[in-house]
Amino acid sequence: MSSWSDFRREQILVGGRWTSADNGGTLDVIDPASGEIIGTVPDAGAAETRRAIDAAAAAFVGFSQTTAAARARILRDLSTALRDNQDALAELLTREQGKPLAEARAEIETGAAYIQWFAEEARRTYGDTIPSPWADRRIMVTKSPVGVVGAITPWNFPSSMLARKIGPALASGCTVVAKPASQTPFSALAWGVLAEQVGVPAGVINILTGSAHAIGGELTSNLLVRKITFTGSTDVGKLLLKQAAETVKKVSMELGGNAPFLVFDDADLERAVAGAIAAKFRNAGQTCVCTNRLYVQAGIHDRFLEAFAAATRNIVVGSGLERGTTLGPLIDEAAVAKVEAFLSDALAKGASIITGGRRHSTGGRFYEATVLANANSTMHFARDEIFGPIAPVFKFETEDEAVRLANDTQYGLAAYFYTQDLGRIFRVSERLQYGLVGVNEGLITTEVAPFGGLKESGVGKEGSKYGLDDYLDVKYVCVGGLGL
Ligand code: ADP
Repeated sequence: MSSWSDFRREQILVGGRWTSADNGGTLDVIDPASGEIIGTVPDAGAAETRRAIDAAAAAFVGFSQTTAAARARILRDLSTALRDNQDALAELLTREQGKPLAEARAEIETGAAYIQWFAEEARRTYGDTIPSPWADRRIMVTKSPVGVVGAITPWNFPSSMLARKIGPALASGCTVVAKPASQTPFSALAWGVLAEQVGVPAGVINILTGSAHAIGGELTSNLLVRKITFTGSTDVGKLLLKQAAETVKKVSMELGGNAPFLVFDDADLERAVAGAIAAKFRNAGQTCVCTNRLYVQAGIHDRFLEAFAAATRNIVVGSGLERGTTLGPLIDEAAVAKVEAFLSDALAKGASIITGGRRHSTGGRFYEATVLANANSTMHFARDEIFGPIAPVFKFETEDEAVRLANDTQYGLAAYFYTQDLGRIFRVSERLQYGLVGVNEGLITTEVAPFGGLKESGVGKEGSKYGLDDYLDVKYVCVGGLGL
């Protein structure tokens, strides 16, 4: 059985070789639960990135010509390796990221499921033949891999966010240069260890840690990189879009959210509470699909608030490694400070604390699961992502008002609503300007469905049959002179 430390690789992977940074510099990786250093990774920059891109471009020549069946086999082996090492990989993830072990295990399984899905999709990159307007010509449409892909990933799902990018990239025949977030690099470097184990050819997956600015700058400006895929904040996404525009790269952007969660008078109360707990407090509120705003209709408001607060009080705060923990630490001190700032802004504007509302007695980066009542649209969380365990509850009167408030944001990633009225299910889901809508469900992500935001929440889809399109170029070939 493997142990978490077997996957703690303190080097970058460039062209099949594990190396240090050119200047020997390193970055500390901190366990957010204990504040202790659990290892270091190279502080690489533009020169190492150029070499990784060159290696990926060289590997692309051969890899893009392998059969779809061969690539499917590699991906299947990768998903099996992930599942075989689920416990070790989950522990590594919890140690650097903080989430409860059960959530970390679920994340590893999610990653394996995405990889498996794309192993299956690899063989379905069908083209078309189109009826020709010319008697002596034929029209074919084929799909080919875009080339070298630059993949930049965040710290909240350090393993599965990379799965969503490596899966479609390899399925389509692309090669990858990945840069994980500096807070959680080990779960990404672990993909390199697994890739080696299952025989992914050298240079197909390269993984760099270090300066986001230098590595991101090179990935977005280098002519050999044909696509940038990014998951992270809207601000950094906009920056990368601007940088990638200079060389007209394909882009996929999974950016921030500001998810509304609507509870109508006719909702199943118990179900709505369970959904709200899952959609709010998973990963300590640090997901882009986490509920940011709960809108509850006047007739059910008080009963919902009471039941939701009671369920929130059952949440167990602690180290993710401890049995029974359901809420781990926040990723860093800045995240705790942001949560505190959002709370004091809300209190100053009339919100009241129903439960929680301060740092947890454990100290460090732990914050209590918090429910606020009397939220209103002048408060910061009406506009911006909290990314922490605060659940603000707003009261509304009518369906029109709820939909208007839900859509009143520049974000458009996930939205949730609870009702048992069939007509309302269709009316509201059609009017919500969101890429993902959960009706009577608080957790809806799956590899078989398209994940992606509208408005400033992003461009492109991950997972599902649509997820491969972003990694493929469509080519039209006209064959003429057929003598007909
Ligand atoms: P979060 O708010 O979730 O930390 P960020 O958008 O800051 O999200 O970070 C997501 C990823 O983007 C991380 O891998 C981070 O290192 C990277 N990143 C941050 N700034 C830049 C940049 N200027 N260029 C390229 N990547 C960046």
